[in-house]
Amino acid sequence: MLIFNAHVHLNGSMSEEYLEVTARRNGCTEHFQGFLAETDLWKKFSWIHQIIQTPEDIKLATLDVVKHSTADILEIRTTAKAMGRHSVDAYIQAFVEGLREANAQYPQKRARGLLSIDRTKHTLSDAKQIIDAAVAEKKKSGMIVGIDLSGNFVGPRKLTGDGLYQAVMYALQQDIGAALHVGEIDSEDERRDFDTILRAVQDYKEKQQGKIYGKVRFGHAIYRTPEQDEIIRKLKIPVEVCPSCHEVLDWWKKGQPHPILSLYTHRTRVLAGTDDNLLFRCNDKDEQHKLDSFLHVPEKYAQLSEDAQHEIISAKRKRYMF
Ligand SMILES: [Zn+2]
Repeated sequence: MLIFNAHVHLNGSMSEEYLEVTARRNGCTEHFQGFLAETDLWKKFSWIHQIIQTPEDIKLATLDVVKHSTADILEIRTTAKAMGRHSVDAYIQAFVEGLREANAQYPQKRARGLLSIDRTKHTLSDAKQIIDAAVAEKKKSGMIVGIDLSGNFVGPRKLTGDGLYQAVMYALQQDIGAALHVGEIDSEDERRDFDTILRAVQDYKEKQQGKIYGKVRFGHAIYRTPEQDEIIRKLKIPVEVCPSCHEVLDWWKKGQPHPILSLYTHRTRVLAGTDDNLLFRCNDKDEQHKLDSFLHVPEKYAQLSEDAQHEIISAKRKRYMF
C-alpha cells in the first residue's frame, strides 16, 4: 500500500537535528535552546522562524523533510516570504531547488510543493500573485503543483468574504490544485469562511463543470455544520486528516470517534497528513495507519484480497494528490 502525506507544512516538519545544525550555522544556538524550552506549540514556530534565515536554509530544510519522510508521495506547503535582502521569489526558487534535488536523491519518493496563502496576512491581490507564481512554477519546473490556504485561525482575517470567494475561484480556474484549511475552530468567522469556500467550490463544479479530484482538498474540516456535510458529500471533496495533530489539539477527543466519521467512514475519501511532525512528533506511515485503523474499506471491495483492496485505495488516493 502506498503511503501518502498530503498535509506537510515545511517550517513545522524539518527534523530537530536540522534545526540544531542550522542554528549553529547561523550563529544563533540560543534560538534553538529557546525552541527546546518552549512549551507553547504556536510560540515554537516563532523560534523556528528566527533560526531559518536564508533561502539556502529553505532549500536544505526541504531536502531534510523529504529525507526523513516515510511517505511514497508527499506534498509540502510553505508561505514564501522575503528574508533579509532576499526576495519572495528567491524563497520560492530555493524551495523548488530543494524539491528538485530531493526527487533526484530519493527517486523512489515523489515530493511536490504548494505555495501557501496566509488568510491573516495576504489580501486578494497577494493571493492572486501567489496563485500566479504557483502556475508559472508548475509550467517551468513542475515542482510546484498548487496552493494552500492557511494561517492562524484565531487571528483576525484579511482574506475573507468576497475577497476569499474570488481568491478560491481564481485558484480553481488555473491548472493547479487547491488545498484549503477549513473547520479548524468552532467560531462564527470560521463557519462563514468555510461556507464561502464551499460556495466557490460548488459554483466551480456545478456552473463551470470543474473537476474535484486532483484539484481540491480540504484540510482538517473538524468543525462542520450538517449543511456543510451535505455539500462536501455531494461534491465528494477529499479531506486531509492528521490524526496526531488532532489528538494534541484536542480536536479528536480521547475515547471519542474521530470527527471525520460523521462525514466519511471509508478510506477512499480521505488522505493522511502529519501537518507539523516536528511539533506533533509523528511520521507519515504511522499517521496513515492510525487513520486507516478507524476507517473502512467499502463493502464492494470486501471480497477482494487485502493486497487488491490496498491497490484500489492507493489508486484512488493518488487521484486526490495534485
Ligand atoms: Zn495545516
